[in-house]
Amino acid sequence: MATAWLSLGANIGDPRGQLAEAVRRIDEHAQIGVSAQSSVLTTKPWGKTDQPDFANMAIAVETDLQPIDLLGVLLSIELAMGRVRKEVWGPRLIDIDIIAYERLQLKTERLTLPHPHAHERAFVTDPLTEIAPEVTAWVIDIAGAH
Ligand code: ADP
Ligand code: MG
Repeated sequence: MATAWLSLGANIGDPRGQLAEAVRRIDEHAQIGVSAQSSVLTTKPWGKTDQPDFANMAIAVETDLQPIDLLGVLLSIELAMGRVRKEVWGPRLIDIDIIAYERLQLKTERLTLPHPHAHERAFVTDPLTEIAPEVTAWVIDIAGAH
């Protein structure tokens, strides 16, 4: 089993409801268990600022899936929850990112670990600090060097 830390965000529809629904779907997966949850923070949009505020949270999961397969499950949950990819950094029903998977460092076309932008986004690091301060420090250290 491996531990991974995920960041969840939503800013249209019922953002807090969608975060709860996403956590439920992740935990429901036979090969993934949710082991910790941060509180939900309301944050101002990042990058593209003329859009509604976000609800953000971080969770820890235990999984026997490899990172790329975990990503596949998370992307399929985003799709099942109705996410349509239109614009980068635009409004979204649900976004689920892998911030870290153990202390693995990886850079492929589909997946970069730790997440390359996590360290510069308070909406990722603040919730993650609540549940895993030592992982947050590691991500800031490593991601800053990408
Ligand atoms: P963003 O999360 O940056 O707003 P998207 O959710 O649309 O953008 O993700 C775009 C792509 O980023 C995904 O299809 C995925 O292949 C890639 N990606 C690379 N590294 C990661 C990661 N650590 N977690 C989630 N997605 C990642
Ligand atoms: Mg994403």
